[in-house]
Amino acid sequence: MLTFEEVAAPSAADRALAEAAARHIETRRVRVEDKLIINGKADVNQLVPFKYNWAWDKYLAGCANHWMPQEVNMQRDIELWKNPNGLTDDERLIVIRNLGFFSTADSLAANNIVLGTYRHITAPECRQYLLRQAFDEAIHTHAYQYIVESLGLDEGEIFNAYHEIKSIAEKDAFLMPFIDTLTNPQFKTGSVENDQKLLKSLIVFACIMEGLFFYVGFVQILALGRQNKLVGASEQYQYILRDESMHCNFGIDMINTIKLENPHLWTPEFRQEISGLIRRAVDLEYAYAEDTMPRGVLGLNALMFKEYLRFIANRRCQQIGLDLLFPGADNPFPWMSEVIDLKKEKNFFETRVTEYQTGGTLSWD
Ligand code: FE
Repeated sequence: MLTFEEVAAPSAADRALAEAAARHIETRRVRVEDKLIINGKADVNQLVPFKYNWAWDKYLAGCANHWMPQEVNMQRDIELWKNPNGLTDDERLIVIRNLGFFSTADSLAANNIVLGTYRHITAPECRQYLLRQAFDEAIHTHAYQYIVESLGLDEGEIFNAYHEIKSIAEKDAFLMPFIDTLTNPQFKTGSVENDQKLLKSLIVFACIMEGLFFYVGFVQILALGRQNKLVGASEQYQYILRDESMHCNFGIDMINTIKLENPHLWTPEFRQEISGLIRRAVDLEYAYAEDTMPRGVLGLNALMFKEYLRFIANRRCQQIGLDLLFPGADNPFPWMSEVIDLKKEKNFFETRVTEYQTGGTLSWD
């Protein structure tokens, strides 16, 4: 007959099983120190424990800034656009070229996130922000479509401008290889060469596409709004600018964290290549400024944008730790900095933030 001790004592086989289970739990449970932005081995489905609090905070701020295009009243814009004396030909050209770039740009941005970046980022806090960002891009495409529809513009002309207008086609052609790298299903990180390709694409996307290629367009439409013209479109662009400056800042934080975690990627040759790309982007965006403003309009002219783009390029270089490309460049549009530098997620467009934060009190009857 078995004694009590013999029944209660686990057999060697049981002990081995229990130890294996404990090891399994230990390897499956995420430890903060195992999380990395790229090439991390920790389970990406476990959001917590948090490591990258800056990414989580931006996710929360992005949600607090939620807005929808159809909430903006377009009536005054429609009246102004229909009035033959409402806007000059140059002002109308700005609007058409501007929407021509933006109407497809945010679709490219969404592809880049959903089909590319998201797969290669192994920090769940960053993935969470990228999901919010992807929805922002959908809202932006919606906003441009809503403006096109409200003003009764030629959809075919606007949505094909990225094929048909040289300065727009050249900006997109510059971006496409970097988007293609990340969206290529065969592309995998894990080698120095590919990790540098990923980092380069992230820099092009955050610092050049969202951080430079959007800025001539933002200034133009906000300048119209400052003169009390197309105030609905201008309001939508302010919301978009608020979102985009957060996308850009998130991208820069992610780039700088990847640099910290992988200092071997940031070689002198790599830095030189990035500086060359930023310099080329300034030229492309300047060509776009000339194309949208063949003459001075709204107190703006293309030359002012040359200085402005140099000023922004310096800022992007500084943000990711590169030498300034254009020392001494000045900001000819200080009012833009005022708009961008506001603590927007807290006190800008307060009414909307408040509206979206009352969801928990909705009544269901
Ligand atoms: Fe964006």
